[in-house]
Formats: sequence, structure tokens, C-alpha cells
Amino acid sequence: MRIDVVTIFPEYLEPLNVSLVGKARARGLLDVRVHDLRQWTHDRHNTVDDTPYGGGPGMVMKPEPWGEALDSVIASGSDGREEGPVLVVPTPSGSPFTQETAVELAAEPWLLFTPARYEGIDRRVVEEYGERLRVRELSIGDYVLAGGEAPVLVMVEAVARLLPGVLGNAESHRDDSFAPGAMADLLEGPVYTKPPVWRGRDIPEVLLSGHHGRIARWRRDQAFRRTVRYRPDLIGRCDPAALDADDRRL
Ligand code: SAM
Repeated sequence: MRIDVVTIFPEYLEPLNVSLVGKARARGLLDVRVHDLRQWTHDRHNTVDDTPYGGGPGMVMKPEPWGEALDSVIASGSDGREEGPVLVVPTPSGSPFTQETAVELAAEPWLLFTPARYEGIDRRVVEEYGERLRVRELSIGDYVLAGGEAPVLVMVEAVARLLPGVLGNAESHRDDSFAPGAMADLLEGPVYTKPPVWRGRDIPEVLLSGHHGRIARWRRDQAFRRTVRYRPDLIGRCDPAALDADDRRL
């Protein structure tokens, strides 16, 4: 997968060199290119923002540098590709970025992220590129950050760990919270490792039983309890056929 990020803070994206994403890049599974938006400005001050039409506080990112930047990045990858990138626009006013969104984006060959600053990017940029690219305006949560770089780090990591070959054990995201399958829409329950007793605390006995069926059932029940406690809104999305009398009592 190819990922391009256009930003006025390229250094903010340095964490993409470490850990899981960094290793995926080093192994050639991920081609990440970070671009400085200011290289597409033409004035002495490398201006990327201006005052908002209609008045009001804050500044708005100008369309011209974004237009030149996006044209240039898109042209750099157009050889032999039938389609351009999916344009991913981080914004608190977008639709929620969820695990389902991560799965959808992980199936794409090319993503182009446009993290903004100030009050966001002049709306005409999304309109313009929406005519030739698929655009996803995505929010990572109901809060407002100062810029879109942290949301890009969040989204790239969520997508990258789903790519084939990136996780050491391909099974490891199977039982994650929100993963499709038997635990769909449930949060993951508690996990344990050695030693079997730590500060007088045992691990649940069932996990030592070696009985796969009982362990799976226990994990599913723990996931259900945790979801009821922390995210009751998710329970309504569970398949009613997957619930039993014990679940309904909770
Ligand atoms: N005035 C905008 C609003 O209320 O919708 C907020 C602009 S915010 C200060 C600047 C930039 O940070 C946004 O354009 C976006 O790129 C990014 N950003 C902030 N919060 C975000 C969130 N929850 N999800 C995704 N991007 C976010």
C-alpha cells in the first residue's frame, strides 16, 4: 500500500518511522511519503492560510497550495494506475473513523491524507477533488484537536496493522475489540500472561484448563460483560440470536 501525507508539520509524522508502521515500511509492505505543503507556496513567507470569508475567528487554509500539492502527488503515482488515491480528509466534522473504516481503507492500494491546521481547508478543495477521487472525510472522535496530524497517525496505524504480513501473527487481530466474527461489536475482555500468581492474584482457572470450548465461552462472556459496562450502545448492534439467557440478565 502507498500512503501520502501532505502537512505543514512533516516532523509530526516521524512516529511513522518506528514500531509496527516503521517495520512495515522497512520490509517494503508500506510505502509512506510525507510532503511539506509549504513547498507549494510561492511567496516569501510561504503562506498557507488567510482570513475567513464572512468573518469570524481563526484562519482558513488557502486552496492554491493544496491544489498544487494534490495535483503533484496524484501525478507522481498515476503511471499505470487506473485510479487515483482515496483522499482521506481528517476533520471533526466528518463521519466517525471506526474499525470498519480501517478495514475498508486497508483494502485500498493508495491513500492520500490531508491533515489541516487552523479552521480547516477552504471547502472548494474537497469539492474539486471529490469530482475525480473518492473522498473520505473522517473524524477520530468527538473532540477537536489543533491539527490533523495526530488523527493521521491514528488512522495509518489502525490500517497498517490490518495489512497482510504486517502483524507477526496474522490471527492476532481476529479477537480484537470490534473485530468481525463471533465477537463482532463486542469489546475484548481481559488478557493474562505468566506468572500464574502475581502479588497474590491468580489468573482465572478456566484459562489453565486447556479446554478450548470453555475458554472461548469464558472469553466471549467476559467480552459481553465489559461491553455492557463500558459501551452499552454497542450491545444493540449484536445479533440477538447470539445472546443467551445469561446475557439478557446483565
Ligand atoms: N473548526 C473545525 C471544526 O470545528 O470542525 C476544527 C478545526 S481543527 C482546530 C484543525 C484540524 O485538525 C482539522 O481541520 C482536522 O484536520 C484536525 N482535527 C481536529 N480534530 C479532529 C478530529 N476529531 N478528527 C479528525 N481530525 C481532526
